[in-house]
Amino acid sequence: TVQLLANIELPEDIAHAKAGGAGGVGLYRTEFLYMNRASMPDEEEHLAAYLDVVRGLDGIPVTIRTLDLGGDKQVDGGAPVPCPPACNPALGLRAIRLCLRQPDLFLPQLRAILRASAQGPVRIMLPMLCNVEEILATRRIIEQSKQELRREGLPFDDDIPVGGMIEVPAAALAAASFARHLDFFSIGTNDLVQYTLAIDRVDDEVNYLYDPLHPAVLKLIRMVVETGRTQEIPVGMCGEMAGDPRYVRLLLGMGLRELSMQPNSLLEVKAV
Ligand code: PEP
Ligand code: MG
Repeated sequence: TVQLLANIELPEDIAHAKAGGAGGVGLYRTEFLYMNRASMPDEEEHLAAYLDVVRGLDGIPVTIRTLDLGGDKQVDGGAPVPCPPACNPALGLRAIRLCLRQPDLFLPQLRAILRASAQGPVRIMLPMLCNVEEILATRRIIEQSKQELRREGLPFDDDIPVGGMIEVPAAALAAASFARHLDFFSIGTNDLVQYTLAIDRVDDEVNYLYDPLHPAVLKLIRMVVETGRTQEIPVGMCGEMAGDPRYVRLLLGMGLRELSMQPNSLLEVKAV
């Protein structure tokens, strides 16, 4: 069976996801919590945003992606997150790198995701992984957060799945070693295409080179799907490619069975 899931960027997007018949949320982007404000959101604010979605989905699963700031996702306005200026932001201290560098940023989010998991099926997804040590370091922080919550008597799902986005060529190439430490993969083609073809996704001058069908990209996708099969871990796709009706047959033929997309694409993809 093929699972069609929704990508959401705000809690209110679940209405569209449900209208499109999504089987769950495959990517809940959480950067909105940091946009246009002068202070950092606290744990309770994170929790409220996650519970809105968990309760709204009424038993169907949500995959919450940890903060993916930096690179193309800069905070405007008050910029509460100290994101050091980088010569090349796409290759800089972004996403999981930033979170591991700044535990005060990461801990409230992880605690809130864990607490939300007591109320319905929740998965954690880590963006921009490039080596196994990042996974191990994150798992240690998750473990530490669980211990704190236990001490405080706050409930959570002890078996919460922790997955990783495959959006850097290194992650696709090393997927077999990543698989030993993750519960699922989700291929982020927006970034995977950018990093494989060395084209900045926000630079209009090189837009013409952006090609999800480039043989190098297809080869990496194929490798990840194959690794998922041999290592028995589920593989989904949540980049824009997954919601493009032109690519659905190809992706199914390559062995993908879980596609997560903007709610607007669900009906058209389902028709294919
Ligand atoms: C991706 O890179 O494919 C992805 C889904 O993440 P984002 O577009 O938020 O970087
Ligand atoms: Mg990405």
